[in-house]
Amino acid sequence: MVLCDKCGLRRARVFQAHNGLRLCEECFLEDVRARVWGEVERWRMVEPGDVVLMALSGGKDSYVLLESLALKFKSSRLLGLSIVEGIPGYNRVEDVRALVETAKGYGVDVFVVSVKEFAGVSVSEMVSEAKRRGLVETACTFCGLSRRRVMDYYAKVFGATKLATAHNLDDEVQTLIVNIMRGDTVGVLKLHPNSGAPEGGVRRIKPLRKIYEWETATYAMIRGFNIQVTECPFINENPTLRAGVRSILYEIEKLKPGSLLKALQHLDEVLGGEASKLKGAKIGVCSRCGAPTSSTRTLCKLCELLEAIGIGEPNYVKFRAGREFKLLSSN
Ligand SMILES: [Zn+2]
Ligand SMILES: [Zn+2]
Repeated sequence: MVLCDKCGLRRARVFQAHNGLRLCEECFLEDVRARVWGEVERWRMVEPGDVVLMALSGGKDSYVLLESLALKFKSSRLLGLSIVEGIPGYNRVEDVRALVETAKGYGVDVFVVSVKEFAGVSVSEMVSEAKRRGLVETACTFCGLSRRRVMDYYAKVFGATKLATAHNLDDEVQTLIVNIMRGDTVGVLKLHPNSGAPEGGVRRIKPLRKIYEWETATYAMIRGFNIQVTECPFINENPTLRAGVRSILYEIEKLKPGSLLKALQHLDEVLGGEASKLKGAKIGVCSRCGAPTSSTRTLCKLCELLEAIGIGEPNYVKFRAGREFKLLSSN
C-alpha cells in the first residue's frame, strides 16, 4: 500500500501529476483548500469588510468555491447567486435545490434568479430568435453576456463588494490563449487579479484560478456533492476556437504535467504591473440601460444584441433603481 506523501498515515488515493505527490483523500482536500486560500490572500481577493457574492451554477467548480470560502470566512460575509438561464433540459430544479441545501448547511443564503425575468427573454429564446434572423452570435455569447449582467446587477442589489466566480485553472488558461489568438490584449490583462474593477464596478475574483479542473472534479467526488452533471445542450453546436484550445492544452498537460499551472504563474509575475493600470479605468455608460460599457459605445453589448433580436426595451432597463426587481425565489 502506498502511503500519503503528506501525512504518511493514510493510503494515497490521489496523484497530483503537477507536483508528483501522492495524497490521501483528506490531505488532497486540505491541499486544494490551502491553495485556494493562498491565492485569495496573495491577491487580496477578500478584504476586511467585504461581502462576497458567489456565482454558483451547481456544477463541481461552484461547490468547491462554496465550500472553500465557507470554511474560511464568516457566513454573514458570503452570499450565493444561482442564475437560471432558461435552457430546457439543462436548468433542473433538483440541481438548484441541492445547491441551496448544501449552502444552507454552511449558513450561506443562495438567491435564485432567472435571465428571463431579468431580460424579458430566456437564453433559449434569444438563441432561437437569433437563428431565425440569421445572426452569427452564438448561444455562449448571449448566455455569457446575460449572466455577467445579472451578476453585476445583483452584486449592487445585495451590496456585495466582491463577485466570486468558480473559474478553474483550465478555464483561465484557455481564455488566456483564446485572447492572445484574437489579439485581445486588454482581455489578457483583465485575467490578472491586479486588474481590479473599472470605475464604479464590483471587482470580480476567481479563487479557484490555480486549481486544475480534474482537481475540482475529484474534490467534488470525494465530498459526495450532488453536482449538476447535465451538459449544456448548446455546447456542441458551435465548435469554437476555445474547444480546440482546450483539447490542445489537455494534450500538453498530459505530455508535461504542471504546464498550465506554470504558464499562469509566469504570467502572474510578468503582467502584474500592466494589469494594475486597468484598475478604476474610465468607462462609458449605455444610453439605454445605464450599465457601464466601453467608452466608444452608445449601447452596451447586451442591449445591442437584444435589439438585434427585436427587443428594444429589455426588462432590466426598468430596474435601474435596483430594488424593484423581485426575486424569482429564495431559500
Ligand atoms: Zn494524507
Ligand atoms: Zn445597455
